[in-house]
Amino acid sequence: MSPLLDIRGVSVRFGGLAAVSDLALALGQGEIHALIGPNGAGKSTVINCISGFQPLSAGEMRLGDERLGQLTPVTAARKGIARTFQTPQLFGRLSVADNVRVASRSGRTGLFDGGELIELVGLAGLQARAAESLAYGQQRLLEVARALACAPRLLLLDEPAAGLAADDIARLARLLRRIAGELGLGILLVEHNVGLVKRLCDQATVMHHGLVIASGSPAAVLSDPAVVTAYLGA
Ligand code: ADP
Ligand code: MG
Repeated sequence: MSPLLDIRGVSVRFGGLAAVSDLALALGQGEIHALIGPNGAGKSTVINCISGFQPLSAGEMRLGDERLGQLTPVTAARKGIARTFQTPQLFGRLSVADNVRVASRSGRTGLFDGGELIELVGLAGLQARAAESLAYGQQRLLEVARALACAPRLLLLDEPAAGLAADDIARLARLLRRIAGELGLGILLVEHNVGLVKRLCDQATVMHHGLVIASGSPAAVLSDPAVVTAYLGA
């Protein structure tokens, strides 16, 4: 069976800078795959490629049996690829409920209705609040609800736990387990929290200066000497 997402030979250059070089990454249905590495490694650029925000300089990407070609954000979303941003991108003046409603295709979702989604991410009772009035951690959770409202097959999360308190991180982890396990979504998770990666993720890929320096199980990857040197600063 083809993996849900199969990336081969993907490179992105910005002028003289090789932000991503010859990336290979495969992700199965129901799998949570961590993409880790120091700042500037190329992680957000990879998410931008898969979600159609960044054209590839080389390489190809497949979603299931389909070759993705050059994507735009709209075509990626239509194919079932949803993402969150490193900095939350919400409609600040709109309510929590309307932020989710705007994100869902034609006002409905294949996964949950908007109210269920808001409850699922732990924002029940805040439906009527303006997004900009939420605490930062709550805004990040609302971003996840918005991404899920598109009924995706593949969810790309760019540092969703950054700035979250411990109980929100635990809630997020339970949520991601559930949507991968029960709904079979594939999740690519950019994350710096090593403990969370070990607890939550099935696979991990480590990037450094645009190159993959290790991939495999989180435990193996995080004890790899090259990773320890590049990333964990030992
Ligand atoms: P990460 O998310 O791992 O911190 P990024 O993917 O954001 O890394 O960035 C990788 C490299 O590409 C960095 O050196 C960054 O400055 C550069 N970069 C990212 N986006 C652009 C862009 N649009 N134009 C030029 N350089 C960029
Ligand atoms: Mg980034």
